[in-house]
Amino acid sequence: MSRFRSLRWRLTFVYLGLLAVLLLAAGVAQYFAAREVLFRTNADVLVSEYNAVFNAFRRQNSTRPAAALRALILSQAFSLELSSRRTAATIVDVNGGWVTSSPATLFATQDPPSLTTQEYRNAVLHSPRPYYVATAADGSNYLVVLNVIRNGTRPIGLAQLAIPTSEIDQTLRLDREVAIVGSLLVLLLALLLSPLIVGRALRPLQQMSTTAGALAAGDYKQRVSVPKTRDEIGTLAVAFNQMAAGIDQAFEVRRQSEEQMRHFVADASHELRTPLTSIAGYIDVLGRREVVDAETLQASLAAMQQESTRMTRLVNDLLTLTRFESGKAPSRQPLQLDQFVNQALDELSLRDKGALESRDFQPGVTVKADPEALKQVVTNLAQNALKYAPGAEQRWSVFTADGRAAIRLQDTGPGISRQDLPHIFERFYRGEKARDRSMGGSGLGLAIARSIVEAHQGTIEAASEPGQGATFTAWLPLAA
Ligand code: ADP
Repeated sequence: MSRFRSLRWRLTFVYLGLLAVLLLAAGVAQYFAAREVLFRTNADVLVSEYNAVFNAFRRQNSTRPAAALRALILSQAFSLELSSRRTAATIVDVNGGWVTSSPATLFATQDPPSLTTQEYRNAVLHSPRPYYVATAADGSNYLVVLNVIRNGTRPIGLAQLAIPTSEIDQTLRLDREVAIVGSLLVLLLALLLSPLIVGRALRPLQQMSTTAGALAAGDYKQRVSVPKTRDEIGTLAVAFNQMAAGIDQAFEVRRQSEEQMRHFVADASHELRTPLTSIAGYIDVLGRREVVDAETLQASLAAMQQESTRMTRLVNDLLTLTRFESGKAPSRQPLQLDQFVNQALDELSLRDKGALESRDFQPGVTVKADPEALKQVVTNLAQNALKYAPGAEQRWSVFTADGRAAIRLQDTGPGISRQDLPHIFERFYRGEKARDRSMGGSGLGLAIARSIVEAHQGTIEAASEPGQGATFTAWLPLAA
């Protein structure tokens, strides 16, 4: 990009162009105004001169009879009185014909300028214009003033006074030169200062472009400094920083989710490797023996069966988890929660498994949920209580609070340790006491329960005081 095509220079040139046009317009207007003022002032002086001379002339000749005075006024004697060094005087009759003239003594060789007969007649009939501009035979311009000579009220002729415009032109030329030099100086100053001022105003934009480059290159912490003035550029800088913060946040979320995904894959692989290694071990042992007695074979097959069941369960759990965590909405239907949990618990026959189970269900609580999924939540909670609080009481309740429906399980088992409590809903998290594989848990039961409840826009929580049992509550939105 050529340097002068930058916004900074384009703005500078537009500004300078505008300034030049305005200066030119102001100069032209000022020139014509000054010209008019000068012409009118000089014309007024000529009229005053005429009046003074005319009155004096009349006084001097007041003893003469009227006809003689009239003839004298229309003669060269009067025009000579009117003329001076720079003023040429001409007497014209009422029909516009020249009677006599006296050139200015300064320009004695020249004939005074003349207007058209029509203009003289118009001046007699109507009143004369404040001034006229006429060109003499030699081409020089004159400022001309016409005065109607009256005998009483009756016009008897015109006295024309003319002065050359050269002096006025000289003043105007000087004025023009001052205006041109002044304008050029202003433009030069503007040319020097504008790029600095515009550049200063646009500096945040430059910084934004550099920062945008840094963002694009992966440095999401970059921000622009916000100018103190809250103009358009200041607002843009604020918006830019908000955008940068948004991008930063989005990438942070992505990074965290990728991190979680890596952990998940590593944990899942680790969980699957254990039964696979175990099965491979049995196969290896059996393969080395030439003769395998029926008892060993049976025991090995049973162990392999157990590992494969464990693996199948793990894979199913993973599938359930990914299904509900994928964000796909579960297929819901209205469920009477008391009836639904009753039936689910009946199917689990907890009493047969040694639990002291009790139920306290508020009737008529309806939610909209996927029955299979909700049953899985109940099952996971019940099985955990069977595993971690064997033989203890299991108090199940269904109720509403704060406009939500709740399924609660309180057990009277050993409870959950303070270290475990914040983590039990994490994937693959097993409590201290549950790390022993014989318990059979893979640490996914509560994670699945949570993903199902959250897919139904609900929440699940656990509370426990060590030694005093554990309480799990799944909150679900009530059906409208
Ligand atoms: P798993 O049962 O496969 O270990 P879960 O996600 O179901 O995984 O449970 C996570 C952990 O929460 C368990 O390892 C256990 O330590 C703790 N826990 C769950 N339910 C209870 C309970 N009723 N009493 C005590 N501890 C429990």
